[in-house]
Amino acid sequence: MPRTGVVDAHVHLYPAEVAADPAGWAARMGEPLWGELVTPQPGRRVQQGWADVDRLLRDMDAAGVERAVLLGWYWQRHETCVWHNDIYAACVRAHPDRLSAFATVQAGADAGPALAEMARARDLGLIGLGELCPWSGGGTLLGEAWLAVFARAAEMGWPVNLHVTDPASRMFPGRVATPLEEIVALAERLPDLRLILAHWGGGLVFHELNTHAWRVLKHCAYDTAATPLLYEPAIYAAGVRAIGAERILFGSDYPLKVFPKAEDGPEFHRVLAQVEAAGLADADRAAVLGGNARRWLGLP
Ligand SMILES: [Zn+2]
Repeated sequence: MPRTGVVDAHVHLYPAEVAADPAGWAARMGEPLWGELVTPQPGRRVQQGWADVDRLLRDMDAAGVERAVLLGWYWQRHETCVWHNDIYAACVRAHPDRLSAFATVQAGADAGPALAEMARARDLGLIGLGELCPWSGGGTLLGEAWLAVFARAAEMGWPVNLHVTDPASRMFPGRVATPLEEIVALAERLPDLRLILAHWGGGLVFHELNTHAWRVLKHCAYDTAATPLLYEPAIYAAGVRAIGAERILFGSDYPLKVFPKAEDGPEFHRVLAQVEAAGLADADRAAVLGGNARRWLGLP
């Protein structure tokens, strides 16, 4: 049976100028952290793949993905965030039936420019914030500037997608520690904030079995981005068992090569096949693959 109605809540796009020379582009833009992630290191495959908007739409069509939510990246410089937000605004304007997009901001020491950028991005049609990782710039979630950004997102009703690293995962260049207790503290401080914790919240999803964590986090959602790189496929059923299906959003992390041994380029088939083989009840699978994102993000 052909797939229908899939929403991918975690997709990144970089224009051709970036894909042509990622390391050079990162150096020119003053983005060494991202440069480190996309530059080949001895003994390690680069997992970044590349796709422009036309390639993305073709791959979505081929796999039955109805809509993709474009997420920005946790750029170090405000100017790079503005640049990326403008690119996403153009994508959404051109393909409103297929694409939605989140804005990215860098709060740094002063939240002023980030707050102004959020208002500008909303006027451009963007619908949330992310993927953010305040720690990558040396910040903390509860620092004054980032807290102001999160409080504004809560006021705007904007969901915020946070990159979360599982503290038990392997070390690699560019890996950023994202203390889970800070996420719990943020959710407690701002109960109206609609957090989407990427990559299963780095395992935080299972900490919801802790009664305090559940009480604080029960309004948060989790996405499944990059699951094949990080977890056993059993995590889909285990995640649903831990918190129910309603707060789990399918995300691929396309065009990341989440099956790095496969030689071909970015695509959605393999990861969707993994979800479909995970043994979820039909209603749960449909919720994870699209229904939850539609409800959570107010998508058509
Ligand atoms: Zn991430």
